[in-house]
Amino acid sequence: MQFENTLDFAQNLDAEDPLSKYRDEFHFPKVDGKKVIYFTGNSLGLQPKRTQTYIDDVMTDWAALAVEGHFNSDKPWWDYHERLAAPLAKVVGAKTEEVSVMNTLTVNLHLLMVSFYRPTAKRFKILCEEKAFPSDQYMLQSQVRYHGLSVEEAIVEVKKRDGENYWRTEDITAKIEEIGDELALVLIGGVNYYNGQVLDMAVITQAGKSVGANVGWDLAHAVGNVALKLHDWNADFAAWCSYKYMNSGPGNASGVFIHERHLNKKDIPRFEGWWGTKKETRFLMKPEFEPMENADAWQLSNLPILSVAPYLASLEMFEEVGMNALITKRKKIVDYLEFILHDVDKETDGTFEIITPKDRGCQLSVFLHGQGKPLFDFLMRNGVITDWREPNVIRLAPAPFYCSFEDMFRFGQILKEGIQSNT
Ligand SMILES: *Cc1c(COP(=O)(O)O)cnc(C)c1O
Repeated sequence: MQFENTLDFAQNLDAEDPLSKYRDEFHFPKVDGKKVIYFTGNSLGLQPKRTQTYIDDVMTDWAALAVEGHFNSDKPWWDYHERLAAPLAKVVGAKTEEVSVMNTLTVNLHLLMVSFYRPTAKRFKILCEEKAFPSDQYMLQSQVRYHGLSVEEAIVEVKKRDGENYWRTEDITAKIEEIGDELALVLIGGVNYYNGQVLDMAVITQAGKSVGANVGWDLAHAVGNVALKLHDWNADFAAWCSYKYMNSGPGNASGVFIHERHLNKKDIPRFEGWWGTKKETRFLMKPEFEPMENADAWQLSNLPILSVAPYLASLEMFEEVGMNALITKRKKIVDYLEFILHDVDKETDGTFEIITPKDRGCQLSVFLHGQGKPLFDFLMRNGVITDWREPNVIRLAPAPFYCSFEDMFRFGQILKEGIQSNT
């Protein structure tokens, strides 16, 4: 499509956009009385208006029913989380029984390591990307130390090539083959948080499985953003948070995927709690643990319903719209944003560079040559919410649920003004 950097053109794209009506379903912060241009849905998604009702329902049930709410409310709390599995399975390309919602992301990664990182004298290495998200690095390092192993020997990071800003799939698969039968686990972010790259999860999973390793994915930046087929790709496990592209609220619950070949097993190493034992006999309070037949076997505690309720509200919206429609709009709006960026760059003599490769989702990471923090601050003052990463990178993620093409046009105007007033 031939794009144009004009208000008319952007407004026409909005008029044709089947998702444009969802913009009104979200609360926007305001600057000078105007809705902000929100580029940080990759960090904390906006609040859907309908979420309030989901919370209010729980509060009302708690007030009116108290303990009876566990079994007798409209959406009983004891199996409230089961309502999330089917819609969430569609978002991540899994079978319903392979998905569960519990805890938070880093906690779930630790719990999944208990099951899927079982180092032996020979097979003990973990492959990850260089400069993984800090929490993932801390998680991996502490797991390795917990097993009494050396972090330097056990953790192998795949680097980018000199002068390049992205990972090459062939470098990752070559490293997997090189480590071979010493490789216990591959654990990588499916969409990198810094450069926005979408890794080739199908090929990397296949490579890891073929040398006999377990393969897990951190999908914090992937879920609700790109097409996922966790079951077909044959990944062993995955985990994600729900507050980024899935709009479930700050610090909210995490989802997990466990491939069906690991389900319904009593002998799998796992940390267990009463919410993972069979529903039918749970309240007989027996000493033996009888695992739920689905991914719920990894559940520990009765769930924080006030935190799962917003995730259910969010999933209802994903059900209505579907990932295909979101991905179609996402591609178009990111392409348009890229076009606007190049146009502004031309008019301002090339002051920045997009470091996100073509394999991308919602996010464009932009390196600001010589502009830096003052430009970022100018954007914030003018109602453009981006985020800043050292050194000199802003990340722009126009979430397709609520960002408009007009936002992209207006952003271009503000950016140009900011660069020109700065130089
Ligand atoms: C956002 C993010 C996290 C956050 O972890 P929490 O446990 O939810 O605080 C972890 N890993 C990655 C890759 C992320 O992008």
